[in-house]
Amino acid sequence: MNDVQCYHVEWLVGSDQWQSDVTVQLHDGLVISIEPGRTADAIELGPVAMVEGLVNVHTHLEFSGLKEQISTTGRFTDWIRNVVMYRRENLGLTSTAIGTGIEESWQSGTTIVGEIATAGWSPADYEKMGFKGTVFQEVLGLSPERIQQQSKLAGSHLIGKSLYSRGISPHAPYSTHLDLVTQSVEISLQTNCPLAMHLAETKAELELLATGAGEFREMLIDFGVWREDVFQTPRHAMDYLKVLAKAPRSLIIHGNYLNETELKFIASQPQMTLVYCPRTHAAFGHSEHPWRRLIELGGRVAIGTDSRASNPDLSLFAELKFLAARYPDVSHLDLLRIGSRNGRLAMGFEPHSNSKTLADLTLIRLADASRRSSHPELFGPSNRVCGTMVNGRWVWVAPDLASQMLKP
Ligand SMILES: [Zn+2]
Repeated sequence: MNDVQCYHVEWLVGSDQWQSDVTVQLHDGLVISIEPGRTADAIELGPVAMVEGLVNVHTHLEFSGLKEQISTTGRFTDWIRNVVMYRRENLGLTSTAIGTGIEESWQSGTTIVGEIATAGWSPADYEKMGFKGTVFQEVLGLSPERIQQQSKLAGSHLIGKSLYSRGISPHAPYSTHLDLVTQSVEISLQTNCPLAMHLAETKAELELLATGAGEFREMLIDFGVWREDVFQTPRHAMDYLKVLAKAPRSLIIHGNYLNETELKFIASQPQMTLVYCPRTHAAFGHSEHPWRRLIELGGRVAIGTDSRASNPDLSLFAELKFLAARYPDVSHLDLLRIGSRNGRLAMGFEPHSNSKTLADLTLIRLADASRRSSHPELFGPSNRVCGTMVNGRWVWVAPDLASQMLKP
């Protein structure tokens, strides 16, 4: 390969700095130079911000075929019951849904994905697409037999080679025995892979852990998997955090109801990341999310869309626009950092600052209203994604920009 590409952009934005009016040159997928102004051979991309590629740290692509989300207005366990039913009825469509989800992610500017894979999938579903991200094999179970079987599944997921990176996801405290979480951590240490776990997502989950009662107890009884012994000892999210902290890297998914002590604990563990899913969090009507408090404490936050079962789309760009509108005092550079670099760090991808890292880039077409200030609003309401580069290759370019790129 001897591929040289040169683009002139209005803005180039990394996680720490802005540069205006520059030409970016790539050679074999690596950014090799950034020059002021427009060089003679540069393709003009116009009023565009080229930013470090967006990273969606948490989704479940198996639900990407859903046209609209499953109702989130009732009890949380009602939503789970509907999710489980949908999964049973659509298991044969998982491969198709994964492909659809990867396409949608690229079309909305996402370059790297943290994907929770449950059942009905094969490595080819990701590899044939050129997927870049971590496939976390989900494990769950409360009985000794199930723990043993799921632990084996976790181990076998990490054997051999794959074109994507791999991790383990102990599902959630209500579905996954603490022993299985511990075993997952041991496996992650042997293979240096990341872990992802849903934790402190609802008040009902904390109630189950503390008292063994509530809507989760009812649901587990109905599913025929309730075990009195598992929930006899009162527990808290901290019991899980302490185990997860031993993994090489761990992603705490949601954490909507983490308390101050738990947030301080996460902030003290540089290998841990709190994953906030803004629109999913809002759809369930949870209390204010503690993401800003964790940042204040020095902890790391990354962003996920969660799946189409609780979100209208898989656009991380839309999540960042949502945050920009809701928290106007947070700078767009800070938003970009939690939507890109922090996600790479969370899952263990090389940072962009490493000159041997193939380029993952997102192009944002800036609407006029967003271009007025000296530093444009990356996530202004009328901006849109117009190109996505993964590993130095354009995986998607908007039709209007594609025709511009073809011009000599
Ligand atoms: Zn999830």
